[in-house]
Amino acid sequence: MQFTTRTLKAKKNIALVAHDHLKTALLNWCKSNKEELSHHHLCGTGTTGTLIKNETGLEVKAMLSGPMGGDQQIGALIAEGKIDILIFFWDPLNAVPHDPDVKALLRLATVWNIPVATNQATANALVQSQIFTNEVTIDIPDYQRYLAERVK
Ligand code: PGA
Repeated sequence: MQFTTRTLKAKKNIALVAHDHLKTALLNWCKSNKEELSHHHLCGTGTTGTLIKNETGLEVKAMLSGPMGGDQQIGALIAEGKIDILIFFWDPLNAVPHDPDVKALLRLATVWNIPVATNQATANALVQSQIFTNEVTIDIPDYQRYLAERVK
């Protein structure tokens, strides 16, 4: 795979997702980091996004609920280069009905090399890092070259 770069602006598009048993943890994390989050564009899966919006007052665009397609919507935005950071508190101890979507979301976040936090310690590290506040450049697959190679 050939790579190119994508610049993530200082004001980022951040996606927030938490499975049911971890919604309180993500909500508390958002409350603790409200000021840092307020500088960015936020979106989330339906329930997570709405809860964060209602309980913190932060502006959060709520997609569909995860099991109804919200993970896929966020995955599609990642593939289009429209999400810069994913904070995804997925549940390692309980099964969810949309497990394939969870895997797909994590997969696309890895394909497109965006910073991802899947637990509180990493979310803390991310929020304190320059990635959160500065313009940063990441390597991403060079899609045009990938396609040109395939249609040759
Ligand atoms: P929810 O979806 O925020 O609508 O609960 C999260 C998920 O399960 O992916």
